[in-house]
Amino acid sequence: MTTSATETADVVIIGGGVMGCSIACNLALTANSHGLRRIVLLERDTLGSGSTGRSSAAIRMHYSTAVSAEMAWRSLHIYRNFPEIIGGDCGYVETGYLVFAGPDDVDAFRANIATQQSVGVITDIISPTDAAGLAPGFAVEDAAAIAYEPYSGHADASGTAYAYATRARAEGVNIRLKTPAAGIETGADGSRVAAVNAADGTRIETGIAVVATGPWSPAFLKSHGIGAPLVATRHEVLHFRRSLDTVPHHPGGADISNRIYFRPEGQDLTLVGNGNHSDVVRDPEVFAQRASPSFIQEVWQRLTRRIPPMADAELAAGYAGLYTSTPDSHPIIDRVDGIEGLYLCTGFSGHGFKLAPMVGVLMAELIGTGRATTMDISPLRLSRFVEGALNNSGYGFDVLA
Ligand SMILES: Cc1cc2nc3c(=O)[nH]c(=O)nc-3n(C[C@H](O)[C@H](O)[C@H](O)COP(=O)(O)OP(=O)(O)OC[C@H]3O[C@@H](n4cnc5c(N)ncnc54)[C@H](O)[C@@H]3O)c2cc1C
Repeated sequence: MTTSATETADVVIIGGGVMGCSIACNLALTANSHGLRRIVLLERDTLGSGSTGRSSAAIRMHYSTAVSAEMAWRSLHIYRNFPEIIGGDCGYVETGYLVFAGPDDVDAFRANIATQQSVGVITDIISPTDAAGLAPGFAVEDAAAIAYEPYSGHADASGTAYAYATRARAEGVNIRLKTPAAGIETGADGSRVAAVNAADGTRIETGIAVVATGPWSPAFLKSHGIGAPLVATRHEVLHFRRSLDTVPHHPGGADISNRIYFRPEGQDLTLVGNGNHSDVVRDPEVFAQRASPSFIQEVWQRLTRRIPPMADAELAAGYAGLYTSTPDSHPIIDRVDGIEGLYLCTGFSGHGFKLAPMVGVLMAELIGTGRATTMDISPLRLSRFVEGALNNSGYGFDVLA
């Protein structure tokens, strides 16, 4: 039997991935400054059940744009100090991060490093000899340039979403699982948010709604007449069990020439993916969840070019997840012009996990004070697509995890 009730809230966040959870937590932590205390988060399934739960969760700083590099760098500080700043365990593992560039990419690569350094990122070009010392078993001589980020690594994506949600709940946020948002009401003239209607029949009157629906965003926004160039794309990830005799440990990394990213997982696994290969998915609830034989063959070969002993590794696991991709591979973090109180936080194009801590901080600023004050996020505005002011996605590196 369907029940129906009306409630009121200051903010309704739609989506309980790492973004929705980070936004909820940061809004609650700053409630004394903006007064938005009654915060509800609606999640259609369970926390982290979308892209977040399948994320490789690599945390690196190598970007071609200052805005993403700065968000990653500021987020890294939060990941590295998570228990003190947020509480709980985000599972951060500092492995260091190597980035390999081929001859065609060297100029763009050096420019990227300069951009990253200009916003404070600690990263530098290192010699092949130094890279070989950091990564036993790697083939490094073919690389035209190699960068190293000593403080980068990876975390636990689901664990991070849960930690944000746990702190958010402790601060009074009402998180409802298995409660899809059916739609956003925008008043009689459609000019402002009036309510969010949950699929269970609950109408939540609110002046502020945040859409953080990951790969469900294209359909959800379209159903509200909001044009945003978003598409869900499928990406595969493999885990290989390696011999610790030949590759005892290794940093995380991205290999631009071979179009792969990798990182250690646990004691003896190496996780590898290829963010540039994608298939468009129309319905995020229907996609092939297992790794395909062609992907395994192709990516294993590519991995072996960079880490030759991986030829003898054992395939331990393979799965697929969805990115929410934009034309310039950068997210949309903005309010919606013409609908007061409606905010978008989506389109992270396969590299959003590492940005999530700052996404929460910046969204709380944007919603609470009217603008993001810690840093300029105007390059991530929705209107850039119609203005033709796309962010440079370099040589495709921005999507490599
Ligand atoms: C295979 C893979 C590897 C990745 N690797 C990396 C990486 O190494 N590094 C990195 O930084 N990033 C990586 N990413 C990207 C990163 O995981 C995502 O950018 C991030 O998780 C996006 O979080 P989100 O909260 O926006 O989306 P999601 O995690 O998808 O959350 C959206 C949530 O909204 C809910 N929802 C949808 N519609 C509704 C509705 N109507 N009502 C209520 N709830 C709704 C969904 O159930 C879902 O839980 C990877 C992603 C994938 C898939």
